[in-house]
Amino acid sequence: MSKLKNTILPIILIFILLALFIPTLSFAQEQILKIHFIDVGQADSTLVELPNGENMLIDAGNNDAGNLIVNYIRNLNISKIDYLIGTHPHEDHIGGLDNVISSLNISKIYMPKVTHTTKTFKDVLLAAKRKNLSITPARAGLNLISNNNLKVDIIAPIGTNYHELNNWSAVIKVTYQDTSFLFTGDAEVDSEHEILALGVDLHSNILKVGHHGSASSTTALFLRKINPKYAIISVGQDNKYGHPDPIIINRLNLHGVKIYRTDRQGTILAISDGKKIKFNTVPIAMTDTNNNSGSKIRIASVDLKKEIVKIQNTHESTIDISGWKLVSVKGGQSFIFPPATIIKAGAIIKITSGKNAKSGPNNLKWTDSYIWNNDGDPARLYDKDGKLVGEY
Ligand SMILES: [Zn+2]
Repeated sequence: MSKLKNTILPIILIFILLALFIPTLSFAQEQILKIHFIDVGQADSTLVELPNGENMLIDAGNNDAGNLIVNYIRNLNISKIDYLIGTHPHEDHIGGLDNVISSLNISKIYMPKVTHTTKTFKDVLLAAKRKNLSITPARAGLNLISNNNLKVDIIAPIGTNYHELNNWSAVIKVTYQDTSFLFTGDAEVDSEHEILALGVDLHSNILKVGHHGSASSTTALFLRKINPKYAIISVGQDNKYGHPDPIIINRLNLHGVKIYRTDRQGTILAISDGKKIKFNTVPIAMTDTNNNSGSKIRIASVDLKKEIVKIQNTHESTIDISGWKLVSVKGGQSFIFPPATIIKAGAIIKITSGKNAKSGPNNLKWTDSYIWNNDGDPARLYDKDGKLVGEY
């Protein structure tokens, strides 16, 4: 009996010690979540070092960025990607995926269930096949990780048929304790509306802004539901698309969101301990974002049915808006304010069209034709230098 005791006791002791140590060790690892918004020019690539020790890569830039991304990841001593996500088959998102797949140890690949005819897309499929990796369809409702502290969910695509490939984008929400992050790929208005209709909890501290800051995404209601404190725009310097759109910068500013941009700041690093988020750099200044005069002259209202647009001077002195431009975004028509158009401090002038069109004091006639689309038509106001100063 005592002999048996002698063997059992040390074993029990070892078990007790192990039980004590394992949670301590895993706790040490379970502290920090790191997000690298890698500067890949006019493209996307985001590496998420999860607090459970796993790694997730969302997109891999253009074809020529593959090696850069692989080297970036290797320099962090990471050799394994547990979750590799290609948000949608456009080259600026999946271009470097084939390099990543063939160079690193990949556990699972997720891509939306849509094909593309490009060589870039075929290269990705081929690289996956060579490594015997299957591709799991990325779709709303797919949960990648779910425990008390950490959740990773795919919340879009919801539909199964989109005209615009961008709307196939996998949208991923990561929640770590009190902090949360939303990665929207290039998802556009249609997808945003579907997500809103589903009523999922969108609130996130950081928004990776959809479609490189294009006006096709980040609708006002979507932004309001996310209610982010910080926005990251992955975008190339002087890109041919004009991304990010001043409208989106304006909208983010109006919501008090602090903006980071890869074209200005290079790779951006965000770190969360589950309570607070820190960055490797400070956000770009609000005055640096085409929004200087917007606060003085604003579009006060647009009555689409009566075809009356009210422009107000909120400044305490008269402002000359000769040569400024009012644009009906849907119709693509614009009204140039005639020479010597001034608005006194606090005053409103009306721009009229359709059957109510008339000119007079504080009344400018655009045309007898109908300008505004009754189903909704954004109005934009540009100053004489062509700078966007207001949107309604
Ligand atoms: Zn893109």
